[in-house]
Amino acid sequence: MGGGTEIIPIVFFLGLSAGVIGKIKGSSFLLWFLIGVGTLGVGILAALLYRVERNEPVAGCPRCGNTVAISHQVCSRCGEDIEWEFEEEEEEEPAAPRAAG
Ligand SMILES: [Zn+2]
Repeated sequence: MGGGTEIIPIVFFLGLSAGVIGKIKGSSFLLWFLIGVGTLGVGILAALLYRVERNEPVAGCPRCGNTVAISHQVCSRCGEDIEWEFEEEEEEEPAAPRAAG
């Protein structure tokens, strides 16, 4: 009767919770699921504390130089209506001197 089997769904739930949180944060569900199971729930805290590292591209405001995310079209400092000019292909080219023209 009983035994230790009833802890299995609990551990599974802990892993599931950690996995969902990790996925919401933009990480791997499976990774955080395994962490949640392996750490018996401590992984949930780890997932909660996990930093979201999304490289949101930013650029300087042409008027005041404030750093503005390019997803915003208005500078939060000076209210400048910014028209971002980006090339479609984002290629990191080494800085080369441009020929005047
Ligand atoms: Zn500005």
